[in-house]
Amino acid sequence: MKVAFFSTKSYDKEYFDRFSENGNHQLSYFDATLHANTAPLAKGFDAICLFVNDNADKETIQQLAANGIKLIALRCAGFNNVDLNAAKEFNIKVVRVPAYSPEAVAEHAVALILTLNRKTHKAYNRVRESNFSLEKLTGFNLHGKTVGVVGTGKIGQAFVRIMLGFGCHVIAYDKYSADEMKAAGVKYVSFDELLHQCDIISLHCPLLPETHHLMNKKSFHKMKNGAMLINTSRGAVIDTKAAIDALKNGQLGYLGIDVYEQEEKLFFKDLSDSIIPDDTIARLISFPNVLITSHQGFFTKEALEQIATVTLHNISCFEKELPLENEVQ
Ligand code: NAD
Repeated sequence: MKVAFFSTKSYDKEYFDRFSENGNHQLSYFDATLHANTAPLAKGFDAICLFVNDNADKETIQQLAANGIKLIALRCAGFNNVDLNAAKEFNIKVVRVPAYSPEAVAEHAVALILTLNRKTHKAYNRVRESNFSLEKLTGFNLHGKTVGVVGTGKIGQAFVRIMLGFGCHVIAYDKYSADEMKAAGVKYVSFDELLHQCDIISLHCPLLPETHHLMNKKSFHKMKNGAMLINTSRGAVIDTKAAIDALKNGQLGYLGIDVYEQEEKLFFKDLSDSIIPDDTIARLISFPNVLITSHQGFFTKEALEQIATVTLHNISCFEKELPLENEVQ
């Protein structure tokens, strides 16, 4: 099949070329992010391959269908950037990579916790400048702390396993409880109870209308004073303005985010030579107790291999009219 890749980076090309050695599909790589204005690039292709910040809204999907696109292959797990109703209406199938490496994202969430807590990023810079002082580097033991997990799906469960290894007391909030988690000693509680009890909260639920701004002014107010919030799920699960207020008044003690509400204008780009027009992220960057990474939770060799293999498999299944086990409906 002829497949047009949007938002292509060097690592996408490297891994997809490596895993499509048999040359079943003709892969073309575009740097452009998908939106209504770039949709004409898909003309002459059978399928498109998208990442997290490509925008397949109704207008775009209408154009893709008019240009002959029959399949949207997401090379990610989340699908909040695709209008599924429009895809159905225009007879375009949507497939994704549901679980390329839950451990990759879970381990990144832990990296955010450890860095924020033990301030290794600051220590690294200090020591490079021959500053061996420990002043203001005090952290806290994770052992014995209460950690709350919102969403105990694949990533949430991988995260729980790590935190139990640290000797944390883990509680969770999800619409559905997982037997493996309960057997491991995780107690499911209400969202409010989780907010009240936790020293650290990590978000692992998808972005849905009901989880949009789940962390808002009211929820920050219910958190333990000075607690830590980690988000590796999707940016809009947190109301960023409310997070800034909570940081300013000390309610929120630490914030570690790998995702950001307005990330599509910033993340995955080198803007080091530009003026950043987004005052909200500029304010976030200015806090000493905020750590931001630009959506790199998934970014391990193992995950990139799995993403390429599963995406190419999804495309082949569609071409051969085999059942689409990874279809999003
Ligand atoms: P999953 O589908 O396995 O698990 C999601 C869990 O969230 C499920 O248990 C579900 O019941 C729960 N959930 C749904 N609605 C909820 C609600 N209202 N409140 C609480 N829990 C709710 O998904 P996953 O593979 O664990 O991925 C989780 C999210 O992580 C994805 O949706 C994606 O947004 C994000 N993600 C981020 C990266 C990254 O690089 N940072 C990479 C992959 C995925």
